[in-house]
Amino acid sequence: MRSPYLQSVFNTIDKRSHEQPEFHQSVIELLGSLENVVDQHPEWEHYGVLERFVEPDRSVVFRVPWVDDKGKVQVNRGYRVQFNNAIGPYKGGLRFHPSVNLSIMKCLAFEMVLKNGLTTLPLGGGKGGSNFDPKGKSEDEIMRFCHSFAIELQRHIGGHIDIPAGDIGVSSREIGFIYGMFKRLTREFDAAALTGKHLSYGGSLVRTEATGYGICYFTEEVLREMKKTSFDGKNVVISGSGNVAIYTALKAQELGAKILAMSDSNGFVYDPNGINMEVIRDLKERSRRRIKEYADLVPGSTFTEGFRDIWSIPCDIAIPCATQNEIDVPQAQKIIEGGCIALSQGANMPCTLAASHLLQDAGVVVSPDKAANAGGVSTSALEMTQNSMRLSWTFEEVDQRLHGIMKNIFKEVYDASEIAKQPGNLITGANLASFLKISDAMIHQGIV
Ligand code: NDP
Repeated sequence: MRSPYLQSVFNTIDKRSHEQPEFHQSVIELLGSLENVVDQHPEWEHYGVLERFVEPDRSVVFRVPWVDDKGKVQVNRGYRVQFNNAIGPYKGGLRFHPSVNLSIMKCLAFEMVLKNGLTTLPLGGGKGGSNFDPKGKSEDEIMRFCHSFAIELQRHIGGHIDIPAGDIGVSSREIGFIYGMFKRLTREFDAAALTGKHLSYGGSLVRTEATGYGICYFTEEVLREMKKTSFDGKNVVISGSGNVAIYTALKAQELGAKILAMSDSNGFVYDPNGINMEVIRDLKERSRRRIKEYADLVPGSTFTEGFRDIWSIPCDIAIPCATQNEIDVPQAQKIIEGGCIALSQGANMPCTLAASHLLQDAGVVVSPDKAANAGGVSTSALEMTQNSMRLSWTFEEVDQRLHGIMKNIFKEVYDASEIAKQPGNLITGANLASFLKISDAMIHQGIV
């Protein structure tokens, strides 16, 4: 790093968080985005803004004991990282997956700070979850786990404090179980304390579709403003087949694209006629089955084991929507060779830093996760607004607001990429736009 200030912050993080590779990766990306502007902001060093920015306000780690269906006691580890609340209460999802650890939680919470800063809504950043694996668990086991998790989590959350939502392994069912226990323990119907709720008790229309729709609205802007084209007639590959992947695929199809392939953690299906989304929804949304079965149900399609090979299918637009670091250098090379013009990060941090650089150097427009998938948290904020106003907007009203927010985010990010003297580098633009706003709020609030 050219700037001695950025270098010294990097050295501190390198020493302190060496054993937290995912968090490390996020911090390096941010510092790199500030290179061209840091000299114009001596106040950052004076007020220790970056040193404070890369250290979470707190990380809570806790025991989650629960009883399985055989009567055996199981113990998992729970997390809530409250990273930064300079512009609003902490906000970020809960992830239940065996891979969850403190590094992933810190990395995702840090990314939430920057993502929420882009939404134009007053939200800070946090993240939480557990190494609990919901796969193969009965509904009773899920409920007992969620209740135990909520007993500790409730001490740390609230509509003005910290507002969790869903993420991998946490849908409106789990949010419902957590909210039920939260309400019982706090004796309050504080609907704005959790988002992603079922419609029957304060959920918002469009929340289910929001992240996927938002990814397409953002990508539409990229295609129009930077590539003078649209989704119409384009071949698209989407990894994953969960909430984000499904609604990205549905909206992309509505905008005229053909979805060639989708995946789950076992492998991917390729359908040269365009993926039949009703079959995917039956398999993955309405029942919890494996994507492999698609190839048995749809003639002409094939299943291949190994989820990473999905990126060897040539496409115009690539939208990874499964998990972190699923695209490394070999996958990026395949994407470039396949003639891709734009890659939108639907999942959080789906590309390694090396893969992102390679794609950008080859002229692929890379839309960063914190901008492209901000539709989910933006609609969560719209859910909180409706809860506070005690009213519900129609699907069209929420969708229209979401569309407007995603267009604004694109403009903000693109403008910031120009300020950073890297026009069109949306990764740098997103980091800078958000950091400028949050650092300003931090300076105004003094050294806290
Ligand atoms: P889901 O749990 O609904 O779906 C996740 C999908 O990714 C599934 O198809 C799953 O396959 C696959 N997957 C999970 N882990 C792996 C892995 N290690 N390797 C390969 N495939 C894997 O999650 P979401 O769709 O909600 O989230 C997907 C991504 O989007 C995550 O990165 C999440 O953080 C991010 N995101 C989600 C938001 C939301 O609103 N839901 C908002 C913003 C970001 P399988 O079924 O086999 O497990």
